[in-house]
Amino acid sequence: MADTPDVTDTTAAPEEPRRVLPRFPEPDTEPFWEATKEHELRFQVCDACEGVVFYPRAHCTHCTSTELSWRTSAGTGTIYSFSVVRRSLHPSFLDLVPYVVSWVDVDEGFRLMTHIVDVDPDDPHSGLEIGARVIVSWIDRGTVNLPGFRIDR
Ligand SMILES: [Zn+2]
Repeated sequence: MADTPDVTDTTAAPEEPRRVLPRFPEPDTEPFWEATKEHELRFQVCDACEGVVFYPRAHCTHCTSTELSWRTSAGTGTIYSFSVVRRSLHPSFLDLVPYVVSWVDVDEGFRLMTHIVDVDPDDPHSGLEIGARVIVSWIDRGTVNLPGFRIDR
């Protein structure tokens, strides 16, 4: 029997919360996760219809073609919506509260669920608002990195 990969973050310092991380091999999303090691936010574009595809997958969500190419985002976008989480029951997020979960419209044309980092959600002058410009801010986790975003001032 093959070893079952550990899906929790083993690189976090003891005081840091552990995060659920992807299992490998995973053919559809592995190129995305590999690029996160270089702090590259990648997405797919359909070779047949030029539709933008995100999250990564094996077929185009516009025309079902399986001919997709990888592109690297500039890492900039706009907050579409957000929510401040003040109570979490999941062990990965207990120590992060309050934290900001957001849908970000990335400039290349896809929407990503992410965290808004380095922001005090209780500060009315923090710039946290729908429509705010944001820039990717990597949350390094060793085996892969997670694309968070921060307010772009
Ligand atoms: Zn297509």
